[in-house]
Amino acid sequence: MPGFEYAPAPESRDVVDVRGSYGLYVGGEFVDGGAGSLKTVNPATEEVLAEVAVASADDVDRAVRAARKAYEKTWSRLPGAERAKYLFRIARIVQERARELAVLETLDNGKPIKESRDVDVPLVAAHFFYHAGWADKLEWAGLPGRAPGATPRPHGVVGQVIPWNFPLLMLAWKVAPALATGNTVVLKPAETTPLTALLFAEICEQAGLPPGVVNIVTGAGETGAALVRHPGVDKIAFTGSTDVGRQIAKTLAGTRVKATLELGGKAANIVFDDAALDQAVEGIVNGIFFNQGHVCCAGSRLLVQESVAEEVVTRLQRRLTTLRVGDPMDKNTDVGAVNSRAQLERITELADSGDAEGAHRWTAPCELPDQGFWFAPTVFTDVAPAHRIAREEIFGPVLSVMTFRTPDEALTKANTTPYGLSAGIWTEKGSRILWMADRLRAGVVWANTFNRFDPTSPFGGYKESGYGREGGRHGLAAYVKEA
Ligand code: NDP
Repeated sequence: MPGFEYAPAPESRDVVDVRGSYGLYVGGEFVDGGAGSLKTVNPATEEVLAEVAVASADDVDRAVRAARKAYEKTWSRLPGAERAKYLFRIARIVQERARELAVLETLDNGKPIKESRDVDVPLVAAHFFYHAGWADKLEWAGLPGRAPGATPRPHGVVGQVIPWNFPLLMLAWKVAPALATGNTVVLKPAETTPLTALLFAEICEQAGLPPGVVNIVTGAGETGAALVRHPGVDKIAFTGSTDVGRQIAKTLAGTRVKATLELGGKAANIVFDDAALDQAVEGIVNGIFFNQGHVCCAGSRLLVQESVAEEVVTRLQRRLTTLRVGDPMDKNTDVGAVNSRAQLERITELADSGDAEGAHRWTAPCELPDQGFWFAPTVFTDVAPAHRIAREEIFGPVLSVMTFRTPDEALTKANTTPYGLSAGIWTEKGSRILWMADRLRAGVVWANTFNRFDPTSPFGGYKESGYGREGGRHGLAAYVKEA
């Protein structure tokens, strides 16, 4: 059947002014970093976008001191209603500058413009609006362990370390609740995606946020480690790999510093034979190919009931041949670039282990650009639970398909993982959804949908997926002291 041809629909990059170099944002000013600089590249073209300062341990110290000063002199003294005004202002500026933020995110990260425009940036604004609404009502938020009417106390200075898969959205998940509850922050964005955090610093200035309430220290892992071990930090909030989360937990063990860790996942997306199969196929595609599979809660393990397995895989492959892979700045693109060469190598190595261990690889037919970092949507069938591709987080557009016969078997296979971040269930039967949801060891369980996010809803994991929740009232609770 002849397909429709799409004309190119490029988003313009003229809306964003990418500067040649960027400093750190400390105490309300852009300053030089003491540990040199790093280059951030567009992963779709390998073009160097900018040089970004690397914060040394001394710079981190200066940022923590600026945050402490702002906490003591200004922010902790403001009534909640005043803090709310700043957060509302930030939310509105994010909306006003949405196109600029979306374009910059896509240039620095490689994700399709339609995702940064329609998912990331609107959710960023939603997080600031939601938390602005709580700032003057915390007494009545029903936070655990606090009597109604008692004013919750912030921790003080919060250190925040975020990954590269949703750079601005992870910033919003962390900064909005911290500020709403009266904390000040020092945030370290990922080495490969610092640009939207630095644009966010400009937005803080535009909103008139008092200096030092938000500080951004750019750099690599060493800068993050310096922030984590800084004695002036009262709480650490981290999102990233389980390995680094483990190191952070070790550093903080036995100290008074509170921590929330949002780590990896290997989610099961479970399709029963009574599910609406076309809807399920859309959910499978969204579950693992959204954001190139760089999603901690991605549905990377498809568990499908044996009686419909062939049918589901056939429909899935047919659907995947229609995905448009390529230029992330094209408004019709569904799958963009992998964020870095290192990540591409990791995905390639894990996918190769699938071949070596006897799984069967199918790759969506698509032409990949010559420049940049690309991995075509891939589906492995004949996967055994012991294979690495069934156990390890690939963090790329690679789906491992396994089958089951009974709900008990689906449950056992879904829970056979050291992770426990999310899961999906596809069935017509409400009772089966509830039965499964009760027994799945996952922080988030989606039913007949996948990858739905909302600031009112808590998100977080079990086991090696970390601890603590972000979003909703549970997320607020993590930013105030216990009773
Ligand atoms: P990391 O966990 O290394 O990165 C997350 C953040 O932590 C980054 O800002 C990173 O800095 C920083 N960091 C690195 N080392 C330390 C340290 N010792 N102390 C404090 N902060 C540190 O993830 P990677 O980017 O290296 O990705 C590796 C793998 O992790 C991926 O392949 C994927 O499987 C998984 N991952 C999972 C994520 C999730 O949300 N579950 C998110 C990102 C990755 P910098 O990047 O600048 O070096």
